[in-house]
Amino acid sequence: MNDEIVARLRAAVGPRGFTEDPAEIAPHLEEWRSKYKGRATLMLKPTTTAEVSAVLAICNETRTPVVPQAGNTGLVGGQIPFDGEVLLSLSRLNRIRAVDAADASMIAEAGVILATAQCAANDSGLLLPLSLAAEGSCTIGGTISTNAGGVNVLRYGMAREQILGLEVVLADGRVLDLLRTLRKDNTGYDLKQLFIGAEGTLGIVTAAALKLFPKPATRCTAFLAVPDVNAALTLLARVQGATGSLVNAFEILPLIGMEFVLKHIAGTVDPFRTPATWYVLCEASGAAGVEAVFEAALATALSDGLASDAVIASSETQRAALWKLRESMSEAQKKEGPSLKHDVSVPVSAVADFIAKSIAAVKVALPSARPVPFGHLGDGNIHFNIQAAKDADMASFLARWDEIARVVHDVVRDFGGSFSAEHGIGVMKRADLARYKSPVELDLMRTLKGSLDPKNILNPGKLVPE
Ligand code: ZN
Repeated sequence: MNDEIVARLRAAVGPRGFTEDPAEIAPHLEEWRSKYKGRATLMLKPTTTAEVSAVLAICNETRTPVVPQAGNTGLVGGQIPFDGEVLLSLSRLNRIRAVDAADASMIAEAGVILATAQCAANDSGLLLPLSLAAEGSCTIGGTISTNAGGVNVLRYGMAREQILGLEVVLADGRVLDLLRTLRKDNTGYDLKQLFIGAEGTLGIVTAAALKLFPKPATRCTAFLAVPDVNAALTLLARVQGATGSLVNAFEILPLIGMEFVLKHIAGTVDPFRTPATWYVLCEASGAAGVEAVFEAALATALSDGLASDAVIASSETQRAALWKLRESMSEAQKKEGPSLKHDVSVPVSAVADFIAKSIAAVKVALPSARPVPFGHLGDGNIHFNIQAAKDADMASFLARWDEIARVVHDVVRDFGGSFSAEHGIGVMKRADLARYKSPVELDLMRTLKGSLDPKNILNPGKLVPE
């Protein structure tokens, strides 16, 4: 990058929004799993949409590639600059512009931490239901650009379904103002949808109008021991029927996952005396009085053998302890050693068969590896992770990532599923996109990219296959 471009970018964001300090940039070049290490010599930290607009106008004119990043919690390398691109951090674009209780909406900028936005909604007596393990550091812009899922999708949908409007800066610097809070708006193409899940390849999200919901008066959280996945699904149907579809989370973890959590995560306690094959975390929320039907549904499930044991949280502390068992899965696996990760979805009714077939297929290639399938059973989204055998050589195990991913993703395809349920494409799954999407889908994706970013400056090398 020549000095003139650097000087213009510096002028666009001011000295506080500009850094070439390698020590300040370094934490932004590596993601949580340490799978990707990037390279960038320049990081910009705009504080307004106008500054983002000025930056993109310069970058587009000079064909300077830009990689947007906010919380750096992405798991597929989408937020990492690899070829010395300009790193555009949205973390200082972090104001909550408005919370409108009467309208049940909030307008938040891209760099607002998700947990901060949740608190702001809560302070207004409302609920922002988008919730995921990374919520203490991921941001509104990142969750929209990746169409994040998380633990409440069953009830409230993915990020996409919680967005009323967007403000986006286009590749050439123009600001596309779609920050409306309307519930109904049938005025042609719904342009905001293009940018949700686009991973910063079509435009840069700078603010969003989010849909808020009534804050539930009661939350009922149960942890259950279940014999198999299909029993868990029958249990889910029972609780949904009893509560009138008030289940917001229905998560599953296998015995080996529970063992990892209890072994590696301080302060976790097994709620049951005897081990079970599978564990379910089931949570319903709604008006006071839900507890009675929730508990009655679980009691029937126990007597029918759908569950062998159950505990219901009777305080917020107990609820947090139960959630910790589920939310610690990724950290516990990391502490146990390397694992190959797959974020996949299949029709809910096919989850049990999918898990059995995938384990059988993986065992052919890696006989001693330890499968740890867990996740959002209520959505058919399983994090199908394969833990290395205890004595495995780390490097040679991890070297088989792509080979094993293809084995798992081929099984996913046979079930009509998705090879990326909630983590996106980034760089990790670009080849999968080319392999599993139809030529017509790929053609349309390339057409959109070409028309919205003709000079290919927005997060190049991500999402769209060559
Ligand atoms: Zn997940």
